Amino acid sequence: MTQSFEEIAEAICARCGGKCCHEAHPPLSPARVASLRAQGVPLSAFEYTGYTRFRSHENGMCVMCTGGKCRIHAFKPETCVAGPFTFEVRDHTLHLFLKHESLCPLVPYLKGDEKAYTTQYRMAVERLTALVRTLPGSELEVINGIPEPDTELIAEIPLDPGRVLIP
Ligand code: SF4
Ligand code: SF4
Repeated sequence: MTQSFEEIAEAICARCGGKCCHEAHPPLSPARVASLRAQGVPLSAFEYTGYTRFRSHENGMCVMCTGGKCRIHAFKPETCVAGPFTFEVRDHTLHLFLKHESLCPLVPYLKGDEKAYTTQYRMAVERLTALVRTLPGSELEVINGIPEPDTELIAEIPLDPGRVLIP
């Protein structure tokens, strides 16, 4: 039986063990924090370092990661859903980056499957656009200052409503 993109991605991520959850610190909008709190995530899971994010354990893994798996899979922050795409915002434009294969074993699979790539690209654009529209401007500025090494720029998408380009 043919496996869906989600099933294949899940298997690749399970083998990887959550590399992207190490020192991940996904940004959390006020609405996302409220929704996570309503799901029972304790206040102690969050920290503020110029923007609100999840803490990491001493070993660097995200506090929401247990045994290589995300404990809040159904409520994951936008940047976690968008991976291995990542972003920054400059001049009202969403700059979308793709991580190098050395960082994420899902990348070679996506590059080899146009349908899967398009599906994940669209998801990333949708979620990241929603995130940047709900983050306080001062927090977005701090997030923009975080370097994105080992990535390639793959799209520049105007954030003006109605002009978001999704291929
Ligand atoms: S998205 Fe990439 S880095 Fe993250 S768990 Fe999956 S394969 Fe690993
Ligand atoms: S929220 Fe989940 S997917 Fe995101 S970094 Fe933490 S454990 Fe990983």
